[in-house]
Amino acid sequence: MSKAVVVFSGGQDSTTCLIQALNQYDEVHAVTFDYGQRHSEEIATAEKLAKQLKVASHKILDVTVLNELAISALTRDAIPVSNELMDNGLPNTFVPGRNILFLTLAGIYAYQLGAESVITGVCETDFSGYPDCRDSFIKAMQSALEQGMDRELKLVTPLMWLNKAQTWALADKYYSLELVRDQTLTCYNGIVGSGCGTCPACLLRAKGLNDYLDDKAGVMAELDAKC
Ligand code: ZN
Repeated sequence: MSKAVVVFSGGQDSTTCLIQALNQYDEVHAVTFDYGQRHSEEIATAEKLAKQLKVASHKILDVTVLNELAISALTRDAIPVSNELMDNGLPNTFVPGRNILFLTLAGIYAYQLGAESVITGVCETDFSGYPDCRDSFIKAMQSALEQGMDRELKLVTPLMWLNKAQTWALADKYYSLELVRDQTLTCYNGIVGSGCGTCPACLLRAKGLNDYLDDKAGVMAELDAKC
């Protein structure tokens, strides 16, 4: 029996990954990390979706220790989300070590469940600001987990080379475009669905959706060529 653990935030990307996993694996478990996000709606959204999509289990892990250490616009209400990059070239929503911590914990959960894969919606195509979303990081992390736990563990990144329009096509491929559009939370201002419409996450999401809706057949063909 095939088993996977999906790192699940309740956003567009991880929800699309979860839906795909439910179509590809016999047993799918979801794990959501509570690190004191700006908006606890994110956790509530993930909980609701996990229930609705009928995952085998949904774990919400308290990792607020990350919030204590890592200072970012996503972990401090006093820091507004900026469209400008910081002096080090990273967006101010970057949370240092976040994916290192999340993938380590998801890897431990996979180990306990006997799952062969950990699936994460990271992507380096569209939003290249985060170093811990790069393919080279994922490969290094997989190697660290496999060596550290002395077993095979695949870190699967279905969205790594997709742009946002193609990610929408992937949701549509599994007849879930409306679910992802209306029920997921990507907005940095904590508004479900199409969001506030002005933060960087909303702009990226809306542009991708428009690009997909403008040329459904074309984008779907690009997606099929990549998967
Ligand atoms: Zn927004």
